[in-house]
Amino acid sequence: MEDFYLIHCWIEHPIRPVDQLYTYYSSKELLPGMRIKVDFNNRESIGFVENVEKTNQSLEEIKNTLKIEIKPVLEVLDEEPLITEELHDLAMYLKDTTLSTTISCFQAMLPSKIKPISSKQTIVNEQFVKVSDEEYSLTPKQLEAFLYVKDKGEVLYKDLRKKYPNVAKALIDKGALIRYEKEKEATDIQVDMRSSKLPLSIEQKAVMDEFNHTKDDVYLLRGVTGSGKTEVYLQLAEEVLKEGKQVLILVPEIGLTPQMIERVSSRFGVGLAIYHSGLNPQEKYEQYKKVKNHKASIIVGTRSSIFLPFQNLGLIVMDEEHDGSYKQDSQPSYHCRDIAIFRAKYHHCKLLLGSATPSLESYARAMKGVYHLLKMEHRINDQLPTVSIVSMKDALQRGESFILSNALKDKIQDRLTKHQQVILLLNRRGYHSILKCKTCGEVIRCPHCDIAMSYHYEDKMMKCHTCGTSIRVPYECKSCGSREGFTKYGFGTERLEEELQKEFPNARLLRMDRDTTTKKNSHKNLLERFGNQEADILLGTQMIAKGLDYPNVTLVGVVNGDEGLTRTDYRSCEVTFDLLMQAAGRSGRSEEEGEVIFQVYDPTHYAVQCAARQDYETFFKFEMQYRHDGLYPPYRYFIAITVQSRNQKIVDETALFIKSMLVGDYKTIGVISLLKIRDLYRSRVLLKGTDLDSMRNDVRNLLGKEELKGKDIRIDVNPMVLD
Ligand code: ADP
Ligand code: ZN
Ligand code: ZN
Repeated sequence: MEDFYLIHCWIEHPIRPVDQLYTYYSSKELLPGMRIKVDFNNRESIGFVENVEKTNQSLEEIKNTLKIEIKPVLEVLDEEPLITEELHDLAMYLKDTTLSTTISCFQAMLPSKIKPISSKQTIVNEQFVKVSDEEYSLTPKQLEAFLYVKDKGEVLYKDLRKKYPNVAKALIDKGALIRYEKEKEATDIQVDMRSSKLPLSIEQKAVMDEFNHTKDDVYLLRGVTGSGKTEVYLQLAEEVLKEGKQVLILVPEIGLTPQMIERVSSRFGVGLAIYHSGLNPQEKYEQYKKVKNHKASIIVGTRSSIFLPFQNLGLIVMDEEHDGSYKQDSQPSYHCRDIAIFRAKYHHCKLLLGSATPSLESYARAMKGVYHLLKMEHRINDQLPTVSIVSMKDALQRGESFILSNALKDKIQDRLTKHQQVILLLNRRGYHSILKCKTCGEVIRCPHCDIAMSYHYEDKMMKCHTCGTSIRVPYECKSCGSREGFTKYGFGTERLEEELQKEFPNARLLRMDRDTTTKKNSHKNLLERFGNQEADILLGTQMIAKGLDYPNVTLVGVVNGDEGLTRTDYRSCEVTFDLLMQAAGRSGRSEEEGEVIFQVYDPTHYAVQCAARQDYETFFKFEMQYRHDGLYPPYRYFIAITVQSRNQKIVDETALFIKSMLVGDYKTIGVISLLKIRDLYRSRVLLKGTDLDSMRNDVRNLLGKEELKGKDIRIDVNPMVLD
């Protein structure tokens, strides 16, 4: 009798995620981690093999014991497991910690071309040629082409046709060359190797030595902006690469850090892979394969690159570790740092977190000795910029402009005269931020979200920054019907640009925000132009605050620097402080002394004061006190449970049910009504407590309840934003 294998697998279901194993049979032995095609409820679905069981029972006997119809595996999609043992364990860890379905974890880990859900996407093949073994009589030209292929072993058919236009096809027709198809591979990233390593400063050397001669798992490097953290990363990477191991350098948003890619690629040209959301699915798949086939040894990537199939990691660096983009909002809502810790442990390698403004959580862990703290307190050029604070309340009383104070204008003029460059940061795009009815005071809101829309001058439209809807400015107020018109409040980068043009008609301006960077590479191009000194002033949103290193910038102005403090989120002080610190870090990075101006409404706030003194430690103390008194993280854990639906009644009822079910050694806060987004009503229940495991357990049990079947519920463990 033939052997049978029972194949237990996770099924990818397009409508309702089912988080349990289903069983099929196969006459071939399969390996865990392979993908298969199966029939699930009369529809072809993809399964991930979890485990395989050999049986000597007959199919009939099996059906009788299991008392279910058991169907055959229709097709095996992989020759070798796609999910290695390590990645499998990681998926289980993800599922447990983020309370997500197994399949959603596998999905998060794979590039879209091989995600189960999109298996319809075709993988792109290319045609190659190689020589055949048989002998043929060839013309001299044909012989030349033949020898060319023989010498190379394998040549892209289209390249051969380009090189030998008239003979390539003839050689194939004759049988001298064999044409075949293969998956398209990533073309090597072209770089002209030019940078070599710099002699280290005393601080850099001390940090490297301490890192190399201690044996901890996680290190946190707090180094002021311009202290040379990147150089430390590169030199540590070089040592690891020499041992034949892989290095992963994580960066917040690739669009925002083109300089990091440039610095890594100019130091280590060969074996570099770059992985980020700006790549199309095919490009992502090619980079993924490069890592899987050992062709990449150093990888620079954003959040999702933490899931690439590394074989022997020797070092993980996470730059700007405090950055919000390391947290995924959608399910599984993981934090990249946690995954990095998991993978570093598996590969027995070190994880280095770096930032000028570490997240409060990480710094608190470093203080407790959970992470090994390393510090660099001095800039390479040994001078911090001088920061001055301008109170906008006072400036307005003196009759100055509410956009640019006289102090900032004077400094800009001074830099223009000296042919030095200026960066101006305003963390809001558009022209006006809100329009209010002159009669009833109602704000114009997005028809799909409850959020105020911004006026954009360029296309004379109102835009919703949450869902992207644009409308014309209405003729009459929707609320009271008045046709008196609207009063305009607030201002964004578009308005700032106009003001600068008026004030400094000869200055060359570059504006960088989401409206000016929609095209591929537009971001890189804008920065390149600024780097080549084709502009005097770069203005933009927080996009321009991060990681930029331009030696000729000697003035940075932050307009509306404390606007973030008006948000109610518990992290608003931290976010404001980070932004001010990062912005200040862009000024005076070379020989010329740098200056910074913060225009704020509350000059005495500790976030503003500490940022002005570039004093992280004092900010940390104040902020920890505030978190302690307010019972916020890192003193408490949060789990946010959000229900959403187009039907408000469903949302209300479900949220109430959830609240009633979650009673334990923690606080159950809510039901909190959130603003409608994209036509979805949303409500939230928030758990706050000290025992995260018991909170997780209760939520896990809750999610299994019959009453919640088919409901759209999102879980965020340790949410970074609460609005
Ligand atoms: P950070 O990442 O800490 O903000 P960078 O690594 O960007 O700092 O370094 C700031 C500047 O100092 C860069 O222009 C860099 O090229 C330069 N730099 C870094 N290390 C050295 C060194 N050892 N010697 C000379 N210049 C250095
Ligand atoms: Zn009105
Ligand atoms: Zn909207």
